[in-house]
Formats: sequence, C-alpha cells, structure tokens
Amino acid sequence: MIPQKITEEMTARRRDFHKYPERGWTEFRTTAICAAALERLGWRVRFADEFIEPARVMGRDIDAAAEKRRALAQGAPAEAMSRIGEYTGLCAELGEGSPLTVMRFDIDCVETAESAEPSHRPAALGFASVNAGLSHSCGHDGHAAIGLALAEMLANERQNLRGTVRLLFQPAEEGVRGGYAFAPLARGADHFIASHLGLGLPTGVVCGGMGGFLCSTKFDAEFTGRAAHAGGEPERGRNALLAAAQAALAIHSIAPHSGGVMRVNVGVLSAGEGRNVVPPHALMKIETRGENDGIAAYAYERAEAALKGAALMYGAELAVTKRGETTAAESDEKLARIITDEAASVPGVTGTRLHRRISVSDDACWLMRETQKSGGLAAYACFGADAPAGHHNGAFDLDEAALPIALETLYKTAARLNAAE
Ligand SMILES: [Zn+2]
Ligand SMILES: [Zn+2]
Repeated sequence: MIPQKITEEMTARRRDFHKYPERGWTEFRTTAICAAALERLGWRVRFADEFIEPARVMGRDIDAAAEKRRALAQGAPAEAMSRIGEYTGLCAELGEGSPLTVMRFDIDCVETAESAEPSHRPAALGFASVNAGLSHSCGHDGHAAIGLALAEMLANERQNLRGTVRLLFQPAEEGVRGGYAFAPLARGADHFIASHLGLGLPTGVVCGGMGGFLCSTKFDAEFTGRAAHAGGEPERGRNALLAAAQAALAIHSIAPHSGGVMRVNVGVLSAGEGRNVVPPHALMKIETRGENDGIAAYAYERAEAALKGAALMYGAELAVTKRGETTAAESDEKLARIITDEAASVPGVTGTRLHRRISVSDDACWLMRETQKSGGLAAYACFGADAPAGHHNGAFDLDEAALPIALETLYKTAARLNAAE
C-alpha cells in the first residue's frame, strides 16, 4: 500500500531531523525543510507569522537571529528560510471547502543530551544529535517525517478527495508552549487528529483514542531579596533562597484533591551568590497538573498562595511568569473507532485499542477542545513503537517499523474522512 520509496524517504527524513534536533520555538531548519517539501507537492503553505497571535505564544525565550544562522549552517533550504519570520511551525492545506480534516504533527525536541554509547543505534549509525544538550527523545522527529510522507500520499490521491486537509507542523509541544497559539487553526474543523509514537505501547499496537490527559501549567517564580554581609549585618538582608525553599516545601505539601488526579513539581530551584552573602536571588521552575480545569486551577492557586506567603515572610519581591499551559481533552469515540478500524488492516498491526488513559499532558488538547467546541470530532491516536529507553531519556530511540504503520493508518483515515462521493 505504501510505496517503498515513500517509506525509505520517511525513514531518511526521520534520521535527518534526529541528527539536527531543535528545541521549542527554534525549529527553523525543520520548518524550512517541511515548507520546501510541502510546496513541491502542491500544498499551500502558511508560515506561523501569518496566523499566530503573539499574545498566545508561551515560553518563547530565544535568540531568533542566532538560531536562524544555525539552521542555515545545518543545511536548511535558504529560500524557505528567507520567508520565515519570528515564529516557527506552519500550516499546509490541500483542497477547498468542507469537510475540513486537521492533523497535527509536533516538531520540537527535548532539552536532554543524547546517549553516545555504541549500543545506542543513532550513535552507531551516525545520526545522533549534533546539537549539544538537545535530542529527539520524544519521537517528534518521527512525527515530522510521517507528516511529510502523509502529505505526499494525499497529494498523489488528491483527485479522490473532497474538502480540505490541513496539516499542522507545530512548534514547542514540550513544556506545552505552542499548542495554544496553534489552536485557532482547529476552529471549525470537522475532524481533528493528533498522534504520538510510542508512549509505552509496543510496535504493531495502535490506539485510536487516548484520554486521561492532564491540564498543566508551567511557570517560573523569581524571588528578589536583598544581599547583605552574612556575618556583619545579616538582619539587613532579605533572604530569597529561604523564601524559595519554604515555597518549595509548601507547594509539595498542597493537600491532594478529592475530585481526581493532581500533580505538583518544583523541578528547579537555584539561588544564592556567595557563601558569605545573604542570598538576594532565587529562581524556581514549577509545574502543576490536574485531571480537569477545576483541579488544575486549585493546584495552581494553592502554589501561587504558597509563593506569595513565602515572599511575605522573607520580605522578598516575587515575580511569577507563565511558561506554558494546556487544558485536558478526551478523544471522541466515533473518530477513535474510525482510526482503529482503518488500522486493523494495515500491514504490521498486531492489535488495536479504542481507548487508553495516560496521565501526561499534551497541548494538542487545546486543538481537540477547539474542534469539539464547534461540534467537530477530535481524537488523539497512539502508534506503538518499541524503544530501548523511556521518552525524554537520552537513550530513547524509535523502532522505525512503527513509521509506515502510522503513515498508512493516518492516510487511510484521512482518505475515508475526505472521500469523494
Ligand atoms: Zn515529550
Ligand atoms: Zn512528545
């Protein structure tokens, strides 16, 4: 069903993206490669500056000029690069009118170093990350490659399709920073599908409708106190380190919620300057999660109260900055069933599941909710992929046999949803 040439090119692209991973909002090379490939196939491409509302962008802290120079030095196509503005990611469309089917592929990497062990296949085969401290250890290299292969399959079959297929190549999923800015592109969609490789399922297993995603807020808290000689006049200092330390303990002591799953984590606390100085600065990186909007709001509000209380105790100034946020969503069973039905006859598929709960967060939930708000159907599919290590671990690698399974399932699903009468 999938031509050998398309599978080979998809695998080669996955390895190329893998070698040049780009963190959220810096995916200039990936965006340019996708744009050039999509336009060659006849897709209408809009770069993110054309549709993003800057107020919806979260956690973007980059030197765009430097990242663009890096992208060009790493082989990004210059013509497409010259048309990218501030923001990475793109929207590509084929066809006109309804029905409108939207599919999202996230393209960013994880901020963790990749294993250099010879037992790590990308290292052994020479496609391990060349960007220090960054690696495609969530599998989004595979997602981007599948999206491009799907674009080719659909372009080849366009005479048999009606309506519009819209493919989104979304930046900054990690830290749930990009989904909110891309959510308006799902408005009015008849069908929306997000998908992920792996997630603990073995190669050959396809789940049509993941659920149980958690609402999550990521934020930084900065305490500013006052430095003073720790021996000479400590009473003149305002201790930002102690304020942050108290806040960390208070956040991890927030009472659990009877209504369902809740999570809090202080992932980073850095503070202080010198051994003999009352610490004037402290930075905390925090996340709160909840099974629904109410529990998530409870966790965030209690964490904020703990931060404010600690600031008051130590006479420190507090600044809280939201770095990312996502809501929760559930897959619609009707669409999940279409995906599993189509997957069942795909070569290599050994089993299908209609539903599976998972307690992580994905900002595709913004797009799912946007679709469902206007009466469309949304689903989050998972394509199992054996992996030698867990997601976000430097030794993570994808079983590439999962790529054609995901491609063919998504292709057959889109072809069915947009079948010409
Ligand atoms: Zn991830
Ligand atoms: Zn991911």
